[in-house]
Amino acid sequence: MSLAENLREIKNKLPEGVTLVAVSKTKPAEAIQTLLAAGQLDFGENKVQEMIEKQAVLPDNIRWHLIGHLQKNKVKYIAEFVHLIHSVDSEKLLAEINKQAVKHQRVIPCLLQIKIAEEDTKFGMDFKDAKELMNNYKSNYPNVKIVGLMGMATLTDDENQIRREFQQLNNSFESFKEEFPEMEILSMGMTGDYAIAISEGSNMVRIGSAIFGERS
Ligand SMILES: *Cc1c(COP(=O)(O)O)cnc(C)c1O
Repeated sequence: MSLAENLREIKNKLPEGVTLVAVSKTKPAEAIQTLLAAGQLDFGENKVQEMIEKQAVLPDNIRWHLIGHLQKNKVKYIAEFVHLIHSVDSEKLLAEINKQAVKHQRVIPCLLQIKIAEEDTKFGMDFKDAKELMNNYKSNYPNVKIVGLMGMATLTDDENQIRREFQQLNNSFESFKEEFPEMEILSMGMTGDYAIAISEGSNMVRIGSAIFGERS
């Protein structure tokens, strides 16, 4: 199947109100161009270097999502154009994003990445720290806006476990939303688990291999 057909097939499965971020990491700019021509505007990259290389050669209407772990010293390279940073996992990182956003006279939308998986390898904050940050960040960092939460489930065949982890994140999202109505985005679900994520409340999925094919 062609990339555009893969895209259409996935889009047909997404309920209204669920945003698709096409995860283009490791894939060439030409592949993004093809999907852009098919109407896809949101693309996700997990590495800063790769994102800036592609951004330089692709049209400006693309909405670039940084979905991978972000090092503070790399924020400056994406601050001018990034559409949404999904992976804020510390106040220090948020402070740096704010600093770079000031330089470009913009407000950068961010999600707090919450650790819901069992594995030690997955980055993220716990709910308590996220809550504390939400309560305190606005006066110190006026050039960032936290608009939701992101999480990655454990890599496992146990669907019940994946569902439990997404449920837990959605419960927190709902309670955050009551206090902070600007938190509208719940980014959870990838190729292997997006159906479960959507049934547990996700409204933004990050899908790579089901669109672009397996990564080598
Ligand atoms: C690679 C990646 C995805 C997409 O993974 P697929 O399984 O290819 O859909 C989603 N989110 C993050 C954070 C990623 O790094």
